Amino acid sequence: MRKILIAIDGPAGSGKSTTAKLVARRLGYVYIDTGAMYRAVTLKVLSCGIDAADETAVVELTKATKISLVDGGELRVILDGADVTDAIRSEDVTRNVSLVSSYATVRELMVARQREIGSAKGCVMDGRDIGTVVFPEAELKFYIVADIMERARRRQEELSDNGVELPIHQVVKDLKERDRKDSTRSSSPLRKADDAIELDTTKLTIEEQVEIVLNYVQDIIVGSEGSVGKEEMQRK
Ligand code: C5P
Repeated sequence: MRKILIAIDGPAGSGKSTTAKLVARRLGYVYIDTGAMYRAVTLKVLSCGIDAADETAVVELTKATKISLVDGGELRVILDGADVTDAIRSEDVTRNVSLVSSYATVRELMVARQREIGSAKGCVMDGRDIGTVVFPEAELKFYIVADIMERARRRQEELSDNGVELPIHQVVKDLKERDRKDSTRSSSPLRKADDAIELDTTKLTIEEQVEIVLNYVQDIIVGSEGSVGKEEMQRK
């Protein structure tokens, strides 16, 4: 069956990673979490004691960094040979990642790697600039949004699962700050690609989000392969 590339962008807490991951599983595609790559660089910057505001030092360090994503059921993030899957979710990394990812050279290095991985097709990639910069030619693009209170509630739950309790007003403030930085930076800011499908997940369950995306995938595959493609998709 024809394999396509699916780009999923949107702000933090909109549900894009959860949706992307499950859609990839259902289709037997590779899932690429590009936010995890920027988080891994940020973790390295912080662990090396480099000031995240020192662009030159951050860029030099990024050039000497190897990041791999290993998708063997659960996506593992490997930084210079070490598994940092859990470490990249720390509050410290979350607070600094928008600054590190605002540097044009850091982005160029990450985008080159993302294009390398995604060029094999059969891939769901999520981030902030996938549909606009990394793969503007992706067959299917989504821009996932959700109400700020709902996004904060999801993020608070995720933090709590990791043993971090924060009041909702703090989570709202942090999310708004990250949205502001990500959408106002000069180098590939977060924005909806003109041809992306906007999906508001505020009132949707995860299963509903996944079904909506899969229906679009089916339309594309059936459109190009007729009923054979449809039967294959339904068997998955
Ligand atoms: O997706 P996640 O929230 O883990 O991303 C962390 C941060 O990485 C974002 O807030 C953003 O600053 C940066 N990012 C980016 N471009 C991407 C993916 C993530 O700038 N494609």
